[in-house]
Amino acid sequence: SLALTDFDPELTQALQNEERRQEDHVELIASENYASPLVMAIQNSVFTNKYAEGYPGKRYYSGCENVDVAERLAIERVKALFDCDYANVQPHAGAQANAAVFLALINPGDTVMGMNLAQGGHLTHGNPSNFSGRHYKIVPYGLDPETGLIDYDEMERIALETRPKMLIGGFSAYSRHKDWARMRTIADKVGAVFWVDMAHVAGLVAAGEYPNPLPHAHVVTSTTHKTLRGPRGGIILSKGQDENFYKKLNSAVFPGIQGGPLMHVIAAKAIAFKEALRPEFKTYQQQVVINARAMAAALQQRGYKIVSGGTDNHLMLIDLSAKPYTGKDADAALSDAYITANKNSVPNDPRSPFVTSGVRIGTPAVTTRGFGVPECEQLAGWLCDVLDALEAGGSTLTTVRDRVRELVVDLCHRHPVYR
Ligand code: PLP
Repeated sequence: SLALTDFDPELTQALQNEERRQEDHVELIASENYASPLVMAIQNSVFTNKYAEGYPGKRYYSGCENVDVAERLAIERVKALFDCDYANVQPHAGAQANAAVFLALINPGDTVMGMNLAQGGHLTHGNPSNFSGRHYKIVPYGLDPETGLIDYDEMERIALETRPKMLIGGFSAYSRHKDWARMRTIADKVGAVFWVDMAHVAGLVAAGEYPNPLPHAHVVTSTTHKTLRGPRGGIILSKGQDENFYKKLNSAVFPGIQGGPLMHVIAAKAIAFKEALRPEFKTYQQQVVINARAMAAALQQRGYKIVSGGTDNHLMLIDLSAKPYTGKDADAALSDAYITANKNSVPNDPRSPFVTSGVRIGTPAVTTRGFGVPECEQLAGWLCDVLDALEAGGSTLTTVRDRVRELVVDLCHRHPVYR
């Protein structure tokens, strides 16, 4: 039993560098978070060795009595967390949960309405490069160009015209509440299944800080590693549907698109859901939203434009379309200053998705490491300093970058993630 350091020095070095990066850089990627030590520890357990095709009590392999306990705990806890009566905790990731919904509920070639990727949707909601866009007829909906808010009247008009079999709610880059009840009404008018992918806001929903889609949607999917702060993975949830509907969803996950479930990850999901049921989790999610609002206000005060005028959740999109630099340039300059964010298309972005005219930022990770409003306001100020310097050009950028990097490292050291 060689130590990792001796067995694989190259990988050890990469791991140590990554540990250092996560401690020393400010993480503003809205879809990232830091899993708890317990969530990480159980993934490093013998649960990883077990094949468990099937579902608890109905497996295709023997010796599943202990992993059955883990999966049942995960299922019961996530049902309690989101107040629903069906849960599948096996999807390896968010994309797999979404693929299972398509496979279970509609047929190839059917018409599906999803949020435009360029206006805040996700790849699996019908992007041409994704299976969803290749095998289904996708009709996108988007934002009102004036307000940056979802245009429900337009959504309804498109739905009535195109009669989709499925309507997708959910997003990767929309900073406002979505009106789930209104979307269900639209779906009902055309007889469509209403599916919500709440991956980004699942933690906020669990804590009651964002409207729960479960009373409105036929089916809900999520990742478990974003605001929910669990291991990397996916889930499918539902409420008030019949057993046949739930059976279709289960069969779509296994044997539809997956083989053996990742039992070590399912065990980690059970831990994450238990953590999320505690009162501290609610306080955490409240702070995530408070911090996001504070950052949006600080950015606006410095003259930066936020798409839809602000945020009601954990993220916001900075619109840089009036600037002489691109989203890609901004992403790189911030990264050099140890502020990690991601370039992101803004509504009606003239630039390609690789270049973009925006930057998306979010507060789940910084809030986990203990940043409050003062730290978030300070951080927003540094972010503006870097972007201002990028605009000014010349040697200012290097000077500002070096100063901000130092301040970031110092702030990070006062709020360690794991150490
Ligand atoms: N759904 C939404 C709304 C997302 O934002 C994402 C990831 O960014 C996914 C699904 C995909 O999740 P995963 O990366 O786990 O496949």
